[in-house]
Amino acid sequence: MVSPEKKRAQILGGRVVADQIKREVAADVERLLAEHGVKPRLAAVLVGDDDASAVYVRNKVRACAEVGIESDQRRLPAATTTEELLALIRELNQSEEVDGILIQLPLPGQIDEATIIDSVDPAKDVDGFHPSNVGLLAMGRPRFVPCTPAGIIELLHRSQIEIAGTNACVVGRSQIVGRPVASLLLQRDATVTICHSRTRDLPDVTRRADILVAAIGRPAFIRGNYLKPGAVVIDVGVNKITDQNETHSLFGDEAEKRIEAIKKRGYTLVGDVHPVEADAVAGWRTPVPGGVGLLTVAMLMKNTLQAAKLRRNL
Ligand code: NAP
Repeated sequence: MVSPEKKRAQILGGRVVADQIKREVAADVERLLAEHGVKPRLAAVLVGDDDASAVYVRNKVRACAEVGIESDQRRLPAATTTEELLALIRELNQSEEVDGILIQLPLPGQIDEATIIDSVDPAKDVDGFHPSNVGLLAMGRPRFVPCTPAGIIELLHRSQIEIAGTNACVVGRSQIVGRPVASLLLQRDATVTICHSRTRDLPDVTRRADILVAAIGRPAFIRGNYLKPGAVVIDVGVNKITDQNETHSLFGDEAEKRIEAIKKRGYTLVGDVHPVEADAVAGWRTPVPGGVGLLTVAMLMKNTLQAAKLRRNL
């Protein structure tokens, strides 16, 4: 078992790196305007009234304002059909004004998500989900890289954490996180293992990882015995905890703060990694909130700027 007196993991916060990336984007946006009269524009499409999606879109629109990128928020009702959403995407694809198109996922069940993803102009696909961008990434020739995986790599790189030669393990194989982050780690010369719900003896596999990325969507699923001592643990999960009784075992010293959050908002967030147990074993751990999520938004800004430049061959 994990001994409580062991040195705690260092926290690999996302704030400093995300702010640094946003400052760089803001400076480049200013230069683009001064030298070429171009102001990048992002269209953010939100379908339905899912609270979490609305918060994500609001954060993205706010980040645009921070870095000087124009943004249009396009809201459609929950009953929107695939055809209606396709019509909006066609309009955005054709618009000379729009550089980046973001379709906030998940979409309501009646909408065919794959058809929608395929319909976004690959040159405006700042989420990097279009098959041609996925293919380019898989070939090691990335154009637009999905924001969360790109943010994870930036965080590792700018925190001087070596990737080349390490054993990296990604738990989760989604198109949004698991697969692309595995591709990026491989391109940076890690030896990469991808795990999923059918992996046998998961802890035995994850315990070999120098870098572990957890993108599962299950609260505090990765326990201390899943980790190699000193590992770098990147926690992508965002899960809600509503039971105050769970806070002490999950958050230790932070429990009181978390109880306050539950009293105020009805929930607190935990990742896919058990924070207290990971802290007793890992060398580094990204917090939830305040970790990978901040990088995701910063990388969206970077991708939108890149789209504005690529479309004009700048
Ligand atoms: P997803 O599409 O639901 O994929 C989850 C993956 O986890 C699947 O590949 C699944 O395996 C695997 N999995 C599920 N149960 C498992 C188990 N018991 N053992 C091993 N693997 C298991 O999720 P996602 O979109 O990648 O998101 C994952 C988490 O990250 C969610 O909490 C999401 O909210 C969060 N997220 C955060 C950000 C951010 O910016 N912070 C961005 C995106 C996502 P199978 O393929 O075999 O089903």
